[in-house]
Amino acid sequence: MRQRLYDDNLFQFDSPQASYWEATAGEVSVNAPPLQGDESCDVVVIGGGYTGLSAALHLARDHNIDVRVLEAGHIGWGASGRNGGFCCPGGTGVGMKDFVKMVGVDDARQFYVAQLEAVELVRQLGAEEGIEYQAYGSAELDVAHTEKAYASLVEAHAIATEQLQLSNELVSAGECRERFYDSSEQFGAMISRPAFGLHPLRYCLGLANAALRHGAHLHSRSEVLSWQKADDGMHHISTAAGTVRARKVIFSTNGFMPEDLRREFYGRTLPVISAIIVTSPLSEEQRAAQSWVTEHPAINSRRILNYFRMLPDNRFLFGGRGHTTGHREGEQETYTRLEAMMKKLWPGWTELKVDYSWHGLICMTGSMCPSVGQLEDDDSVYFAYGYHGNGVNNASWAGKQIADWIGNGASPKLPNVIRGVSRRFPLARFRLKYLQMGIALSSWLDRRG
Ligand SMILES: Cc1cc2nc3c(=O)[nH]c(=O)nc-3n(C[C@H](O)[C@H](O)[C@H](O)COP(=O)(O)OP(=O)(O)OC[C@H]3O[C@@H](n4cnc5c(N)ncnc54)[C@H](O)[C@@H]3O)c2cc1C
Repeated sequence: MRQRLYDDNLFQFDSPQASYWEATAGEVSVNAPPLQGDESCDVVVIGGGYTGLSAALHLARDHNIDVRVLEAGHIGWGASGRNGGFCCPGGTGVGMKDFVKMVGVDDARQFYVAQLEAVELVRQLGAEEGIEYQAYGSAELDVAHTEKAYASLVEAHAIATEQLQLSNELVSAGECRERFYDSSEQFGAMISRPAFGLHPLRYCLGLANAALRHGAHLHSRSEVLSWQKADDGMHHISTAAGTVRARKVIFSTNGFMPEDLRREFYGRTLPVISAIIVTSPLSEEQRAAQSWVTEHPAINSRRILNYFRMLPDNRFLFGGRGHTTGHREGEQETYTRLEAMMKKLWPGWTELKVDYSWHGLICMTGSMCPSVGQLEDDDSVYFAYGYHGNGVNNASWAGKQIADWIGNGASPKLPNVIRGVSRRFPLARFRLKYLQMGIALSSWLDRRG
């Protein structure tokens, strides 16, 4: 019996997560038969999302290393197949101003530069490997939901441009209305580039097929149930139907991490449910009712933030926090709340129907940043997790860093703030309680404006 924070309902690896992305991924198949019998390889990867697949692709393609990926569900079953498709910098659990205060300007800048590099990596992988992931938009909008929030954006913009030397742009509410959209909670925005939206599942399956083409082996429906290290230094990683022996392991299960597989990871992540609804296609009149003319993905400045984007087929994607238990009963309540919020922000869209809704786990850490590294007491184990709401770029990038680390036999130059295992949450078994209290407080503050 796995030790998990959330209800088992969230870990039904054999049922696909019905989503808009599943419905529109097209006829892409991935040759990933379940692991059978005994195999060996140089590197085994646990988890078949962006982190694991990017690591496998780069290991096989750039370093000619024999790699196998074990994925409990189908390839892309986790967050990588069901996220919002924002390929944008961000990646911390706090805003830019607090982040700079927390880690200092130099470390913050290092991390932001790496994230811009990560966005570029996704663009490059798309071009090099011929992945048709439907890039849409060319920036991300960080939209103020109150006048007070706009004042904070002005401050954040000064930090971004003067201290972090980013080329972010600030626009007033009026300019935002003309260039992007209008809403009952639109008081101006900060624009960051490079950034774009994409079809997350197509990207994920594209990475998988690229990894296969370059010689990696992928195994879906292969949940790792045990992990032992023998005296000869080989890891024995077992599923219900087979075992892989390998000298090195990459642990890349992010928000779906089975924390009892290696005690070193227990209590170091806080998975959080995020949920998405996608509407029926909007007519020209409906778009015009809210002056919607942009392709850029956007987030708002609520403490419990929402993320949203118009999709290439004119459907509207709207996401936000999910429920806090994972019980099936909480799901409908979440989608109803999201729909009500969407219609409050865009009162011209009250007639829109919701056609798709689903959810998944985002991975937060106590250090508010991703964690990438090698275990201190076993340098044959590599890991990368904790991308908060920005894994499309950061997970792809982290997978490449680990592949280069293994391939070159030397650590890449990682930003200080992400290097090493994240700190353990104090009284880790009460993490969900902290989360529930944090959400209650933030929602109350959001209501006060
Ligand atoms: C609803 C939602 C919206 C999001 N929106 C965005 C967004 O717009 N932009 C963005 O950048 N990021 C977004 N994210 C975050 C982003 O999706 C993740 O950070 C990213 O996909 C992480 O990739 P990963 O490969 O590390 O993890 P995952 O894609 O979650 O992959 C981990 C895999 O490990 C597998 N696994 C777990 N246990 C085992 C085991 N024992 N054996 C074998 N396999 C196992 C799981 O089945 C899973 O497929 C969102 C996440 C969610 C849930």
